[in-house]
Amino acid sequence: MSDTDVRAVPTPRTAPGPVTHADVVVVGAGPAGASTARFLADAGHDVVVIDKATFPRDKVCGDALTPRAVRALQRLGLHKEAEGDVEGWHRQRGLRMYGGKTVLDLPWPELPDWPAHSVTATREIFDHTLVRHAVAGGATLWEGTEVTGPVWLTSSQERVAGVTWRQRRTDGATAEGTVRAPIVIVADGSSSRLGIALGLHRDRSRPMGVAIRAYYDHARRDLDMMEGFLEITSQGRLLPAYGWIFPLDDGTVNVGWGQLDSSHHFKGMSYRGVLEEWVASMPAHWGISPETSLDRTRSASLPMSHNRRPMCRGGALLVGDAAGMVNPFNGEGISYAIEAGEMAAEAADLALARRDDGPLAAYPSAVADQWGGYYRLGIAFTAVMGNPTIMKACRDYGMPQPALMRFVFRFMAHLVDRRSADGIDRIINGLSRAVPAA
Ligand SMILES: Cc1cc2nc3c(=O)[nH]c(=O)nc-3n(C[C@H](O)[C@H](O)[C@H](O)COP(=O)(O)OP(=O)(O)OC[C@H]3O[C@@H](n4cnc5c(N)ncnc54)[C@H](O)[C@@H]3O)c2cc1C
Repeated sequence: MSDTDVRAVPTPRTAPGPVTHADVVVVGAGPAGASTARFLADAGHDVVVIDKATFPRDKVCGDALTPRAVRALQRLGLHKEAEGDVEGWHRQRGLRMYGGKTVLDLPWPELPDWPAHSVTATREIFDHTLVRHAVAGGATLWEGTEVTGPVWLTSSQERVAGVTWRQRRTDGATAEGTVRAPIVIVADGSSSRLGIALGLHRDRSRPMGVAIRAYYDHARRDLDMMEGFLEITSQGRLLPAYGWIFPLDDGTVNVGWGQLDSSHHFKGMSYRGVLEEWVASMPAHWGISPETSLDRTRSASLPMSHNRRPMCRGGALLVGDAAGMVNPFNGEGISYAIEAGEMAAEAADLALARRDDGPLAAYPSAVADQWGGYYRLGIAFTAVMGNPTIMKACRDYGMPQPALMRFVFRFMAHLVDRRSADGIDRIINGLSRAVPAA
């Protein structure tokens, strides 16, 4: 794949026609949809990608791209961005963990399969880059266009044949139409209205996270580590939660915290209140305070552990948050959205070539084979970590042990070589294979 300078590619404002035909229609142009569209365009397919937003647009996120996500960017062909070599992208060498009285620097491990650095970019920049990359590869983008439902092939509603859309024009009039395509990619995010319209509902027994983030100016100009915190409290009570400070290229930081919505602490909690309490307790010389807030405080959910299944229904494939692909160990969703986008594009490519839905039906097992066992372990992990007593024990007894923390760090960041003989890889692979896929 070529390393296109995506900054040179303007976002087109293509006007959809009343009925359009494509090989694949992709609904949602976040990381899942934009990357699926790019992989499909690279395979020579005629792709229409539709988003209700107009780019660049904000999205609630920690803005962190771990080495796993850096590798996903490399596979997409975004090499300069993956190195942090472009304005708006910031590079880090590891994670600094704070818990109890311990502060521990955990450099990203040097591994054959993974880069040894992370990057950050605001979602305004990140998503815009991916969308333009898809367009540069040949995908057609309709932005400011809302998908309103599936088009079915027959009245039995077993096979999709495209989607309907609605667009509010600049003169205030509303246009509506249809894109007919044999394959539909559902990449419309956590609440996935299209997934629901296809009869695919969220599995409420699977963990769901909720997190809040805000941007701050600060006085720590030399930050070259991401920072994680096991010390989030509400009125002095330790919460089963984690916090972060992620440095950005423009000299600001993304500060946030999250926990599971199944935690009984979740009910009636003021996320903003806890964030403000935490920020007020930070060392004064960090310069992160209510006064340096850039006040873009917003919260959203993190759908974890494949909480919308099956990921394939009658010609439609679910990718990213629509399928609940967030890693339950660390809240990371972007890498998995891109990785699944590549798998979905491969399945669609084969299905189109063979004129057969078989490869689409195999997509869920391809995803489960990649990380299903690991996610199943994550379900057990979230059940345990939702208990503040265990969280306190991890903070007090785990944090002071660097060797243990290095293992936990690699496990939680899912940096494992599948064929390696390294001890840590063997443990993680063994555990992931020992449980059925989620
Ligand atoms: C507070 C918070 C912090 C997080 N931090 C991180 C982090 O640091 N690193 C990380 O890797 N992940 C993080 N995540 C998770 C990450 O944000 C998601 O996993 C990721 O955005 C999933 O990408 P997606 O493309 O599946 O969905 P989205 O990014 O949600 O994109 C979906 C797109 O679909 C569009 N859409 C929706 N409905 C329609 C419709 N009807 N018609 C047309 N378009 C539609 C939306 O406009 C949107 O552009 C965080 C999440 C939260 C809430």
